[in-house]
Amino acid sequence: MPKVYDVAIIGSGPAGSTCAYYLSKAGLQNAILQKGKSVGEPLQCAEGLIRKALLEEWELPLSDKALVSYIDKALIVSPGNIKANVSFPRGGLMLDRRQFDKELANEAVKKGSTLYLDFQATRIEKIDNLWHIYSKDNKLVKSRALIGADGVGSFTGRYLKIIPPLKPEQVHTCFQVIAENVSLERNRIELYLNPEIAPGGYIWVFPKGDSKANIGLGCHRSVWNIRDRTLEKRLMQFIAQRYNDCRITGKIRGITPAVEKFPMMVDDGVIIVGDAAHVTDPFSGGGTHNALRTGHLAAKWLTRAFNERNLSKEFLDGYRREWIERREFVHKLLYKTSTWLRESDDKELDKLVEITQDLFGNISLNELKIPYVLKKVLIHHPVYALKSAGIFLNKK
Ligand SMILES: Cc1cc2nc3c(=O)[nH]c(=O)nc-3n(C[C@H](O)[C@H](O)[C@H](O)COP(=O)(O)OP(=O)(O)OC[C@H]3O[C@@H](n4cnc5c(N)ncnc54)[C@H](O)[C@@H]3O)c2cc1C
Repeated sequence: MPKVYDVAIIGSGPAGSTCAYYLSKAGLQNAILQKGKSVGEPLQCAEGLIRKALLEEWELPLSDKALVSYIDKALIVSPGNIKANVSFPRGGLMLDRRQFDKELANEAVKKGSTLYLDFQATRIEKIDNLWHIYSKDNKLVKSRALIGADGVGSFTGRYLKIIPPLKPEQVHTCFQVIAENVSLERNRIELYLNPEIAPGGYIWVFPKGDSKANIGLGCHRSVWNIRDRTLEKRLMQFIAQRYNDCRITGKIRGITPAVEKFPMMVDDGVIIVGDAAHVTDPFSGGGTHNALRTGHLAAKWLTRAFNERNLSKEFLDGYRREWIERREFVHKLLYKTSTWLRESDDKELDKLVEITQDLFGNISLNELKIPYVLKKVLIHHPVYALKSAGIFLNKK
């Protein structure tokens, strides 16, 4: 007879492992089910992370191997080559994501979680109030509760009909290369608003240390179908012009969710976390921070649910409601910003970067207060302020 776990977690990305770690800490027996032969594969990430999220959600130190460097600033370049330098000392991190994912999963295992590798969940049944999760090769794990942490396009969310499939207009398409022999400032990321290469999106250049970089582009699916290689070719030209001696050692293609409204993220005995729950930033496409946040939050609500012997959808919905309370406002703002970027022409993007330099040129993002921003934009850039207000209020 297979053992019955309190919780089975499908997926060992940051969301799944964070959840497993805190469940183990609370004394709940849990199993992480990972489809690949190792954790952290395949890598689909530019490896940047908002440091605040790590400090708030992950209580252990990372090894030097997982934490590549601190990021202190960003260079933003407009279509007309206007530049903004934004500083945020130690506000960001560059990770080695493979190592990061492995460390999170290892810490969960050290606390008591069981990790099943090569376990691709392909069938889920509920029998006598227990979840039966079957792998592709018919291995079976049983549990009282279930976490769907299986990333964008989540099998769990789809199979249990909790999360609707992403529509084309709810997706960002991404392409990234790993470039070597690239000379960059170690503590600065670079972002290029270049409609020729990334219409409505942006190009990122993230330093990985040792003269390596992740260079990629992300655009809304409405302007770029991943099967069309035109933008990829243009990105390769951009790289070749800028870093003429560089070597390309890897390529990644992927999508990130970009939804306006969070879906239903729970059902009786189930919580969905991370990219699987579409909590990814709809502006930047970054989602590791929200994977950590939702993983931790789900562990908190499941621990409560086990203490109260109540795994009902109504009880677990506390997780979704708390998430909405914490993140909905910012999420909607980011969604609007993404729409705004898509609808701006080159001149407006130039203006945006000029204003960004004006706002952030002499002050660190860490110290910035919203009233200061509003006052400065209203006084110095009233036309822009009015137009932006129109877009944010949905009136073109
Ligand atoms: C090109 C690109 C660049 C990105 N760059 C950044 C960035 O710089 N910063 C950032 O914050 N975010 C970035 N993201 C997004 C980020 O990678 C995700 O938001 C993050 O990985 C989400 O974590 P997660 O734990 O929810 O899911 P994932 O990390 O996707 O983990 C899900 C896990 O579930 C496993 N799995 C899937 N199906 C099954 C199954 N049926 N059975 C068992 N296991 C399964 C997968 O193998 C995987 O290990 C990027 C995304 C892309 C595509």
